[in-house]
Amino acid sequence: RSRPHDKRVLVIGLGRFGSSLALELVAHGWEVLGMDSNPRLVQAFSESLTHTVVADATDDEALRQIGAHEFTRAVVAIGTHLEESILASSLLVDMGVPHIWAKATSRRHGRILQQIGAHHVVLPEHDMGERVAHLVSGRMLDYV
Ligand code: ATP
Repeated sequence: RSRPHDKRVLVIGLGRFGSSLALELVAHGWEVLGMDSNPRLVQAFSESLTHTVVADATDDEALRQIGAHEFTRAVVAIGTHLEESILASSLLVDMGVPHIWAKATSRRHGRILQQIGAHHVVLPEHDMGERVAHLVSGRMLDYV
């Protein structure tokens, strides 16, 4: 495990998933560098995140310029753009980022991310579907 005092995270992709995650981390006292290739999204979160940058996560040089290789933790919150997700994750793996979380939109996508070396693969729709099933079936109710 990394040092607990290192509370810095790189979040790539500020869509619904990435922005929620980034804001939650900031609320818990983490220093978040939010990155997206869409300048409008970056502008929208420039006040609420610690740092924001417009950059292409599939560009090795751009990643190095923002110091991606110096992070202990990074999240690839790109889903729909499969190729971008795979390329960005693979670059972070090459850079030796020790803890990479990557979002997948399907089990097959998740499998590829795992194969290229992402340490944690998250499947938000699948996980949330299972969670809601527990709620629907009442299994998470506390019977008092
Ligand atoms: P959501 O979290 O909203 O469900 P999604 O799963 O549909 O998003 P995408 O739309 O593919 O995922 O990507 C999420 C964000 O990542 C978008 O804001 C997009 O601009 C950004 N993004 C996509 N490709 C790149 C890239 N190469 N570099 C930086 N950001 C990128």
